[in-house]
Amino acid sequence: MITIYDDTHRYHDPPHNFEDGRLVESAERPLRAAVLLQALQSSGLGPVLPRRSFGAEALAAVHSPTYLAYLEHAYENWVQAGGDPAAALPSTFAVRWMDNYQPHPLSDPGYYAFDTSAPIVAGTYTAARAAIEVALTGAACLRELDRAALPGAPQASPLGVYALCRPPGHHAGSDLMGGYCYLNNAAIAAQHLVQSGGRVAILDIDLHHGNGTQQIFYHRQEVFFVSIHIDPAAHYPHFSGFAHETGAGPGQGYNLNLPLPAGTGNAAYLAALQHALAALRQFAPAWLVVSLGFDTYKEDPVGGFALDGDIFAQIGRRVAGLGLPTLFVQEGGYHLPTLGTHLLDCLGAFQQGALA
Ligand SMILES: [Zn+2]
Repeated sequence: MITIYDDTHRYHDPPHNFEDGRLVESAERPLRAAVLLQALQSSGLGPVLPRRSFGAEALAAVHSPTYLAYLEHAYENWVQAGGDPAAALPSTFAVRWMDNYQPHPLSDPGYYAFDTSAPIVAGTYTAARAAIEVALTGAACLRELDRAALPGAPQASPLGVYALCRPPGHHAGSDLMGGYCYLNNAAIAAQHLVQSGGRVAILDIDLHHGNGTQQIFYHRQEVFFVSIHIDPAAHYPHFSGFAHETGAGPGQGYNLNLPLPAGTGNAAYLAALQHALAALRQFAPAWLVVSLGFDTYKEDPVGGFALDGDIFAQIGRRVAGLGLPTLFVQEGGYHLPTLGTHLLDCLGAFQQGALA
């Protein structure tokens, strides 16, 4: 399996953010990607390739021009206006009847963020932009691959590429950042695959609802978004991810949320996954994008589920059973001692192919 990686992610190293009212050290840090990369390099799973360059049009296909313009210069404008150089973070939000927006570097974060978990530092845009190119390179590789190019792959194995993206992306909407996410890597890769022909399904198995990805494709029927996540009534991102959110307009019926209670273990999770996979089979996409999070693991510090054992191998095997060309895009996962094992379990099982 090919991995796409670029170490530009290191420029995004925020010192802190707020969670549940507390100032905390950011769990989303460069060491996560280093741990994942080291596991891959020691595994013999396949080559690690660099990112390619893509133009701004790939970003503009998913994110609004005003949001992109803001993000590119947010940090220097924030500092010039007197904001704390440690990181740009909102202190006031544009919500409901208080949404008369007048651009200003100190209030902009509260207009373009929906929470306090997306601090912007000097290298944030550079890193997020590179992560987009990692995901797009992965999508391009997937399109270029065919079985002849993978002589070592078992016959039962579908094509797969892994994009080691950081910062993650699935909480970023068309014009909103939050939850460690700024630009939506999976959505931009999915849009790239749609434009190359064929329908795309996105399976989001991060612990948290992929609210940004859902919003981006909510009115579209050529991208089916399926998410298994912790119940938003009591957990992040709180205001999105309920079962009754099924799409709108032409996208009605093309959004499937499968929220599960805190403490969910392997058996209940795999039952939900079977439900998700059945819906994906019915949609019959040409491509699959997996928003891959490991924060469902029982010991994850940002977690809430109780998944354990070889669960990620079981997930990888079942996803392989769809028989679809699959782009895995890294999202969350913060328990550093097990991140590498979980990744190799998942990708290794996928590569070994579908269950007989
Ligand atoms: Zn997550």
